[in-house]
Formats: sequence, C-alpha cells, structure tokens
Amino acid sequence: MSSRFAFPNNDFLAYTLANPVECAPQTFSIKEGHVYLEDTGILRIEPNVSSATSLVVSVGVHGNETGPIELINAMLKDILSNELALKVRLLVLIGNPVSANAGRRFMDVNMNRLFSKAWESFDCPEAIRAQRLENAVQRFYELGGKSGLRLHYDLHTAIRESEYEKFAVYPFDHGAGYSQAQLRFLAASGLDAVLLSHQPTTTFSYYTNRVFGAHSFTVELGKVYPFGENDLSRFTDIDFSLRKLISTAGLLNGDLNRIKIFSVEAALIKDSEDYELNIGVNVKNFTGFAKGYCLASSALSSYLIKVDGDAIIFPNANVPIGQRTGLVVRPTLLENLLLLDELG
Ligand SMILES: [Zn+2]
Repeated sequence: MSSRFAFPNNDFLAYTLANPVECAPQTFSIKEGHVYLEDTGILRIEPNVSSATSLVVSVGVHGNETGPIELINAMLKDILSNELALKVRLLVLIGNPVSANAGRRFMDVNMNRLFSKAWESFDCPEAIRAQRLENAVQRFYELGGKSGLRLHYDLHTAIRESEYEKFAVYPFDHGAGYSQAQLRFLAASGLDAVLLSHQPTTTFSYYTNRVFGAHSFTVELGKVYPFGENDLSRFTDIDFSLRKLISTAGLLNGDLNRIKIFSVEAALIKDSEDYELNIGVNVKNFTGFAKGYCLASSALSSYLIKVDGDAIIFPNANVPIGQRTGLVVRPTLLENLLLLDELG
C-alpha cells in the first residue's frame, strides 16, 4: 500500500475531468479502507470491515447528466475525508468523462446502448469506455465473491420533464420476479415510479443484472442541467438512502404504496425517414393519451393508442432508422407482480 496520494480536495470528479481518457492507477488508504483508482473515473473502495455487500454506483454514462455526478462526488468526498463510514464494498464509476467535459450526452454513440458486448460492433470512444466499465464491474463483483449481495444503481437525469420526476427502470426479469426490498429502497430514495422493462436491452443496468445477478436499476432523477447549475436539494432522499446504505450496509424500507408501477406495452421503432411522433416537443415523460390516438406514423406504419391512459416515455424521433423512438407504457398494480420477499 503506497502512502496516500489524495486527489486535490478529495475531488474525484475534478481529477477525472482533468484526466478524461486515462490516468495512472493509484492506491491509497483512508481510515475506513483502501482506495483503488483503477482507471480514470473508476474508483474501487474496499472497507476495512468485511462486507457481503458490493455496491456499484455509476453516474455520467450520459456525459451531460451532471446532477448525479455532483451528488456522488460529494458523497465520495465525505468517504475520502473520513466523514462517512464505509460498510460496503464500493465501486464508483463516472461513465463518460470525455463527453462530460464536452457537455454532451455522448460523442459518437449512446453509451447506454453499448453494454453486454454491444460495444464490439462499434469503433468509437464510447465503445472503448463501455468495455472498460464492463471489465471494472466484472473484476469488482468477482473480488466480492459469489455469495454476497450485488447492487448497481446507474444514475441519470432525463432530457425532458416527467409527470413523475424521479423514476427507475427495472431491467427485464426474465420471469424471475421483482425484489420487494429493492422496491422499498427505491421508494425510500424518493422515487415516484418504476418502469418494468419488457425485453433484454444493451443498457448498463440490464448487463449487470443479467450477467452478475446484481439488483440493478437505471434511475432517473429529474431534468438535465449543466455542471454547477444543479440544485442538489432535489436529490435529498436518494442522497440520504445511499449514504445510509454505504455507512450501514442496510437498505432503507420505504412505503411501496408511494410508487406507481408501469409495464411496457410497446417499443416504438423508427422505420423510415419520414417517421414522426405526433406529440409536442414539451410533452412530459408518462403523458397519457386516449384510446385511438395516433401516436406515431410514417409511410410504412402507424401506432394507435390501444387503451385509455397508455403513456409515452423517452420519446425521441431523432435516432437512426431501426432504433427506438420511445416506449408506450401502461400503469399496473403491485398486486400483479411476482414479488420476491427476500431480505435486502
Ligand atoms: Zn441518461
């Protein structure tokens, strides 16, 4: 163990943005454990106490989604300066420092479509970075052993406003069911809604769930703002619940009734150049429509709303042909889910 090379001011974010492509590995000790800077934006901390909980927190997978990056950087500062106890194994990932510096969602390709080795088909900075993140997560979970609790919260902010400001995407469960302890944790974290994904994807959270059996979520925490313009008080609940998790290895138990559950009814796909979503530019995520409304149309197809209240989420027609332009989601009830009554 080398003597301590702290980041200036314990500021992992500043150090990462100053070294956006790569940096020399470093190891140093803090009161609560050992810190391993494995690569730029990839920081593993092993607590002195033995812990069965391996927690991955990723931020900035979309480079311009700065709020969660600042939130986690502040939390990390407190750990590095011995003000926050550490009772879990922790891997903090700043996903895409190059695009964070550029203030862009991504440089060439949406990185949250490049996991589960989808990066193999691309030659761009995001492909290289997605591979490095996969390797870091694999190493982290393997070092923690198979029997422990594996968690991954991938924190984002959204392009547009939302009827439910904070919500999580639960990766497709392949019929395995949903963790009550996790849903309660999300409720305690101030989330308003959970969207149950309906198929395999190449997102980061699906990858860690499917490959490593982690409880993984894409967590949307409100609207995107540039560095320095985030009101971190909007993140009070998740700040509290994550700090509690890190410092006690315990998952807070929120009220399941405060969370609205949605299932995916359909994925909208751009099928021709003249494809249009028939919604205003300011339509919020989770905006519902009446049965029969023509939500999307092109020379080749149209999509009519099937049930009153079916809602749109992540609408974006500005994608290549063959890619997703949005999801149609439908409210469902907790009673309809297969809930796993496990301990967190
Ligand atoms: Zn995002």
